Amino acid sequence: MKTFCGRANPTTGAMEWLEEDENYDYHQEIARSRYADMLHDKDRNVKYYQGIRAAVSRVKERGEKAIVLDIGTGTGLLSMMAASAGADFCYAVEVFKPMANAAVKIVEKNGFCGKIKVINKHSTEVTVGPDGDMQCRANILVTELFDTELIGEGALPTYEHAHKYLVQEGCEAVPHRATVYVQLVESKRMWSWNKLFPVHVEAEDGEKIIVSPSEMENCPGVPSVCDIQLNQMPSSDFTILSDVVTMFSVDFSKPVRSASTYYRAQLEPVKSGKAQIVLSWWDIDMDPSGMINCTMAPYWVKSTSAFQWRDHWMQCVYFLPNEEPVLQGEKVYLTACRDEYSLWYKLQKARGEEENKADVRVESPVCRCQAHLLWNRPRFGELNDQNRTRQYIESLMKVLKTDSVCLCISDGSLLPVLAHYLGAKQVHCFFFFFKFFKANHLEDKIKIIEARPELLTSSHLEDKKVSVLVGEPFFTTSLLPWHNLYFWYARTAVTSHLTNNVTVLPQSASLHMMIVEFQDLWRIRSPCGTCEGFDVQTMDDMIKNSLNFRESKEAEPHPLWEYPCKSLSDPQEVLTFDFRKTVPQQCLSTEGSVNLSRKGKSHGAVLWMEYHLTADISVSTGLIQISNEKGNCEWNPHCKQAVYFFSSVIESETLSDLPSAVTYAINFNTKTGEIAMDFQL
Ligand code: SAH
Repeated sequence: MKTFCGRANPTTGAMEWLEEDENYDYHQEIARSRYADMLHDKDRNVKYYQGIRAAVSRVKERGEKAIVLDIGTGTGLLSMMAASAGADFCYAVEVFKPMANAAVKIVEKNGFCGKIKVINKHSTEVTVGPDGDMQCRANILVTELFDTELIGEGALPTYEHAHKYLVQEGCEAVPHRATVYVQLVESKRMWSWNKLFPVHVEAEDGEKIIVSPSEMENCPGVPSVCDIQLNQMPSSDFTILSDVVTMFSVDFSKPVRSASTYYRAQLEPVKSGKAQIVLSWWDIDMDPSGMINCTMAPYWVKSTSAFQWRDHWMQCVYFLPNEEPVLQGEKVYLTACRDEYSLWYKLQKARGEEENKADVRVESPVCRCQAHLLWNRPRFGELNDQNRTRQYIESLMKVLKTDSVCLCISDGSLLPVLAHYLGAKQVHCFFFFFKFFKANHLEDKIKIIEARPELLTSSHLEDKKVSVLVGEPFFTTSLLPWHNLYFWYARTAVTSHLTNNVTVLPQSASLHMMIVEFQDLWRIRSPCGTCEGFDVQTMDDMIKNSLNFRESKEAEPHPLWEYPCKSLSDPQEVLTFDFRKTVPQQCLSTEGSVNLSRKGKSHGAVLWMEYHLTADISVSTGLIQISNEKGNCEWNPHCKQAVYFFSSVIESETLSDLPSAVTYAINFNTKTGEIAMDFQL
């Protein structure tokens, strides 16, 4: 059987449905999953084990049999902990078939067959009774169904159902309780991920300001969570406006309600400023006393938090619908609204309590301005990067003439507006949101072409030839850095519409590479072996098998500003792409070797693109600089870089001789737009 998977084609920029082996989807799921990261999360594992032991003891002390329900058992880890702690029987429920199969193997390997029954079902399908999946209701409920936002993986409806149908009244729950905390901050950096700041353009005929549509003013944006490694956000990038307050708690040992609701908290600003952002994280108490606590608090709240690195649980950034001035000491109310799966926040000045309550609407936010649909958070940040905009302005000024006919190929780009203000005679671009042009009175000035570049006709261009072709390049479908080379393919497709001496901006691009040692990111791909004394190697084998599922290993995208690393080699340019020419027929390949100039573990290679706008102006989507003699790297904060992990290094605990060089072979397949690579240490 074959299945179809959606994937953007980098040569056409379009989404295509590719026929994949039926196992493809699940191999991707396993290979890129967070199971390994969870198994490496020592703090989490230790505390679950303590909590489970305590819960089993409490039940035993009451003279009852300890019957455990473990919802979302994954590898079976928490059930094995319960069985070791003396539980009489465990029902381990797992909906994802490959994981349920793995759990069966792992449970067997660790000798718990008689104590743990793996049930491959969604918990809401599980039956109880003499002929059911479970003989009787459980009196201990163990789960780990939380994401960074706590409820995004459906923990609430799952608990609601379990309390109704699968567990006894008064059951013990591990974790016992979860609490969500918030802190109000002002942060230009984070706010720039949510609103478009005015862009100032010094044109020949005076200063022009690009503004966002007025609908953006109060737009609540999109409901998807913004989860980041907040521990990588320097304290100089935000101003704390309030103390940390508890927003709400959920007691998992009692019936849980998943229906939409809201919570409110009173805040007394510790500083005057502009309330823009709600930072949020949670903790879980594994037992009722609160003595076994696992917290996601960031470094300024709990100084030891950086010690337990994890990627499966981070922190959340919520954007208030609009910025709100607050005064030190003058109370405000923060409302958290939630539905079954997501949360959003509102801030209200302390007026009459009743008046405030009437204001609370619990519908999930919907973007009204269209900008939040067109631009995601990093893209907002990129468009608000003044330094970057200045480089594009400078290079446009170099190439534009008063008779320029300009065509822009990039998704949701400000380049057409810049080109217009900087004096191009005629500007065309592909698809854009009309409201934006309207807000800037450009609807008659910039022509939107409602066709793909491949289908461009001369009538779209009013029978003119393009003398300046521009792109950032940026495309929303790009996953890996080189997927933005779609610009090159589009440029090739529109060749017949270009003048003979057309200027292409950027004139070229280059692929760069550097060997790095990660502080923590390597963990997500490293095998676990044993976890709290349980043999989970089956899981390691499964991940390895899935990673090798495709013939050649693939690089994966990661926003490296969130994942510190140090460079072990100099950055190296490995391939160049000349946009002044069309895409060649034959593949572009290169081979070579990089010397390792610094001591460390070569966890992998990082690859990124640099765009050469003109001969002397370039922008990097990867390395910005190596900040110190230790080799710490500063990365472009708006882009994801490609990471190719060297499994041989990650898998060996003790590397006796560190390699002194890494050889590579990199091949850009011009037919598919993909890059294949191979490294030898
Ligand atoms: N308990 C394991 C794995 C946690 S990951 C550990 O702590 O290491 C969560 C797992 O729960 C995933 O494998 C997911 O497929 C599964 N899951 C989530 N909701 C579920 C539900 N309602 N019923 C069954 N499985 C569920």
